Amino acid sequence: MFQDQLAKKVRPFIDLIDDMRSIGIEKELPLPTIAVVGDQSSGKSSVLESLSGVALPRGTGIVTRCPLLLKLCNDRTVTWDAVITYGEKVILFDEPSEVVRYVEQAQNALAGKGVGICEDLITLKITSSTVCDLSLIDLPGITRVAVKGQPDDIGVQINNLIMKFIKENRTIILVVVPCNVDIATTEALKMAQQVDPDGTRTLAILTKPDLIDPGEEKNVLEIVQNRVMDLNMGYVIVKCRGQKKIDENMSITDAIEEELEFFKTHEHFRSLLRQEKATTKCLATKLSNALVKHIKKSLPQMSENIKEKLGEVKHLLSQIEGGPPKEPAEKRKFLIQVITDFNEQITQLSQGDIIIEKNLFVLMRNEFTAWMECLKNAKSYYHEVVQHLVDEYDQKHRGSELPGFSNYRVFQHVVQKLVAELKRPAMTTLQKIRKMVQEEFDHLSKEIFKNYPYLQDVSKKKIETIQEQQSNIVKARIVEQFEMEMQVYTQDEIFNKHILEEETANCSDLSDEDISDEDETHVLEKGEKAEGSDHDTRSKYPGLLKAYYEIVVQRLADQVPMLIRYFILKQSAKIVCSEMLDLLHRDDTDNIIQEDSEIGQNRAKLQTQVDRLVQANDKLSSLRG
Ligand code: GDP
Ligand code: MG
Repeated sequence: MFQDQLAKKVRPFIDLIDDMRSIGIEKELPLPTIAVVGDQSSGKSSVLESLSGVALPRGTGIVTRCPLLLKLCNDRTVTWDAVITYGEKVILFDEPSEVVRYVEQAQNALAGKGVGICEDLITLKITSSTVCDLSLIDLPGITRVAVKGQPDDIGVQINNLIMKFIKENRTIILVVVPCNVDIATTEALKMAQQVDPDGTRTLAILTKPDLIDPGEEKNVLEIVQNRVMDLNMGYVIVKCRGQKKIDENMSITDAIEEELEFFKTHEHFRSLLRQEKATTKCLATKLSNALVKHIKKSLPQMSENIKEKLGEVKHLLSQIEGGPPKEPAEKRKFLIQVITDFNEQITQLSQGDIIIEKNLFVLMRNEFTAWMECLKNAKSYYHEVVQHLVDEYDQKHRGSELPGFSNYRVFQHVVQKLVAELKRPAMTTLQKIRKMVQEEFDHLSKEIFKNYPYLQDVSKKKIETIQEQQSNIVKARIVEQFEMEMQVYTQDEIFNKHILEEETANCSDLSDEDISDEDETHVLEKGEKAEGSDHDTRSKYPGLLKAYYEIVVQRLADQVPMLIRYFILKQSAKIVCSEMLDLLHRDDTDNIIQEDSEIGQNRAKLQTQVDRLVQANDKLSSLRG
């Protein structure tokens, strides 16, 4: 029997591809297959029936609504066995007459009852002593017009589905064309030509030879002889049961015998038997051989594709780090690890040892420099105001004393008023830096806890609260500092030093060399003792004020940044760390390290892909080795 000779060389390859398909490798790379395409009623199902020996659903209109993978396995020890698989369903049965019912049931489940189509594959595996080893996919018939209940674009939908299968280089296109139409212009052949212009993987089956108009036989023969439209894989002509024979319940086996008889006695087609271009049996052999040849040819490329893909997927998988462990004991360790990592990084961040998004220390320095600039700018304004106020006081309140010899209260009043104006920019500096630091902390939390929404959320909230508390502390300290500044104080030594500097910087402003008193409360006394012109006394007083302001500037220039750095950055990092550690005392570790569901799913998906590819790779190398 023809199956026997074939089985040995054919089976391993077909099995390999079927195994690969059941692993689901098609999702990664196309597998060598045979796809059956043809117009509605061209005889596709009839051909498949003859090949498989089983009756398939048939009828007018759209009958095949999902791609149906028909796997035929020859096994001499088995009478007849079938498995139908679709979606999650797997149904075993051993009654050939039930095929129709199960296929229809599967189609209804996938494509819905009615006349719609669907891209999901139904697999029907038939094991029997009478079939050949072959796997092929039956596709919905090409149609141009929608029937009642079908979407208007059904034709387009079907074309797309067919194209999806036949455009793959690894698909052998089996075009079914009835003899009694204008063969060369059929839609199915046109589609095949689009994707396989050289006809290297297209095989045409001519059906219904018994329905050829008398006189047309010669033309059909020309085509079968490959003289009209050249196809590398050629043509085979078959005769199946006509509707009448079906109605008369002619068996498929009988039909095959009748087919042979038909060709043997056919005036024109007799010769085709010898050329192996006629009968279903011949088609089966031809297809098996073609498929195996095709598979063998594809193997090296497939093997390479699988290795490449495996590399890609493994790389993707490695980018999604391992995820939380499953073991309860490991979970705690894992949580400790993640929190320790975070704490280490936030500490380093607060010390300027790492940069997360922006260089925090550069940003802070810029802000502090701006604060310093603000103090300097205030100084020149201060100088103007001082002169003005002193003049004004002299105008309004001067008693018997000479101009410029105003009392200490004036000095104090001026200083207080002007220093108070620096509070607002100090607060602004605080707000700006708090925002930067908080942003950097948030960034770090997002990065370290990127797969752990709970940890991300909890740390973000903690950072926010702690920053709020810390900035309130700094605010209070700044307020305090400004209240203290209202006292107008400095060490005499410092004051004197500044007066000297002021003098040397601006000799004409202060002519009195005698300023060396120890007590700041005597500053004005000093002024009173000073002799000189009206111009001298008028200018001496602002000079002292300038010297004092210089001291205030120096104090604030450092004090404000130091407060901010300490409370907003250093101490808050410390508090965040310690509060994060508190998470370890909670008993809902599972909840805390709950992974982002998308990431978990993605990892699982990649892992199945890897498994699949590894399996496929093993299968391939075992066959080739
Ligand atoms: P499909 O729509 O392409 O699957 O076509 P079918 O296999 O259902 O066939 C359509 C009609 O053509 C059916 O009535 C078949 O009985 C009939 N048919 C198929 N092949 C032959 C054949 O070789 N000779 C005759 N006379 N009728 C055939
Ligand atoms: Mg059909």
